[in-house]
Amino acid sequence: MATKRSGERSRVSGAVASALGTNAAQHPSLTAKSSGASTDIFAQMQTMGHEQVLLSHDPSCGYLGIIAIHDTTLGPALGGTRFWQYANTHEAVTDALRLSRGMTYKSAVAGINLGGGKAVIIGDNRRTDREALFRAHGRFVETLGGRYITAEDIGTSPADMEYIKLETDYVAGLLGLSGDPSPVTAYGVYVGMKAAAEVCWGSDDLGGKTVAIQGCGKVATYLARHLHEEGAKLIVTDIHPEKVEQVVRETGARAVAPDAIYDQEADVYAPCALGATINDETLPRLKVQVIAGGANNQLAENRHGDLLQERGILYAPDYVINGGGVINVYGELHRWPTERAQEKAGEIYDTLLRIFEIAREENIPTYRAADRLAEQRIAAVAGLDRMWMGGQRGRGAAGQRGSGVQI
Ligand code: NAD
Repeated sequence: MATKRSGERSRVSGAVASALGTNAAQHPSLTAKSSGASTDIFAQMQTMGHEQVLLSHDPSCGYLGIIAIHDTTLGPALGGTRFWQYANTHEAVTDALRLSRGMTYKSAVAGINLGGGKAVIIGDNRRTDREALFRAHGRFVETLGGRYITAEDIGTSPADMEYIKLETDYVAGLLGLSGDPSPVTAYGVYVGMKAAAEVCWGSDDLGGKTVAIQGCGKVATYLARHLHEEGAKLIVTDIHPEKVEQVVRETGARAVAPDAIYDQEADVYAPCALGATINDETLPRLKVQVIAGGANNQLAENRHGDLLQERGILYAPDYVINGGGVINVYGELHRWPTERAQEKAGEIYDTLLRIFEIAREENIPTYRAADRLAEQRIAAVAGLDRMWMGGQRGRGAAGQRGSGVQI
């Protein structure tokens, strides 16, 4: 951000900035100096295309929450609540803006009728007195009347969602409903990997291919089972040896040390642990032809996606291939049976084929082709609103086009 314009910017966002400053002063984790009070939120919103950013404070329980709504063209904004000890308010707002925008794109390419949103709660997520905090959050969500639907994210659990549910119906990922999204996510990653194989090797059969999986958590374990069944050879790693042992026992995978996963002679690298693992340090070490995995934010920076294209490595964009999770939540909102969510996740195969085709035809990196597809869908749906539909828009009050379902 150019410093010479900071005076002008702080005038534009004065109201929001002072609210940030007040919260920061009263919260032990945020000093006045680190509050980021000079952050120009409007400038960030304009650059990234956000509709709305809201702040809420409840002194009774020390609640500091932010909700960012990026785009609701396709439907109500959905995205999880992240509970995190941010260094300052600026970092928290920026994370909410970045993550909510990502949700718009993820839902748009997944072909579901949801917009992009995200909430953050600032604080120590190991805090044990959670009821008042999450009920305060639920009340904040309720004030939006369904424009934003929340769910789990880093630092929150299904039990926290139950507290939110006491205050609002606009919450998903509840106990006893759609449950753990990992099986559907892993299935989407599996079919997405097959689509990449089709383009790369002329056949989507993964039998005999070697796949290096980073992480042996929930998504990775379900993915490993699909791949093992198809006869793929697996190389796995995790920072927790007991998780590695379980996957090795089940699938006969070969285990390697966490850092060695980038150096393997393999056909596919499947990042299923952390973000930003495709970076300046790891990229020269990768010997694979395909990258297809479940992790979010796999590229450290967009330019790493450009470098993958230059190196001829076919990259299945993260938010497309791991869309099974949000599809699963959408299924919960619409009370879909589990099979229907899995069937919808199966469409990731064709979506990726389309993205690979756009990338080839236009000679652009696949992550850019994915953005283009998402933007095309949003523009096409926005265009429908030119036709007057009587008292309300075609999508109905909760923005669920065609279904009438509200939660
Ligand atoms: P998880 O916590 O069950 O698994 C992550 C695993 O990665 C853990 O076993 C952890 O020990 C391991 N790990 C951490 N650091 C590592 C390292 N340096 N090297 C190797 N392993 C390491 O999480 P998950 O639900 O399986 O999700 C995996 C990834 O997929 C995350 O990035 C998540 O954001 C993304 N994702 C998950 C879903 C879902 O439905 N669960 C949906 C979309 C995206």
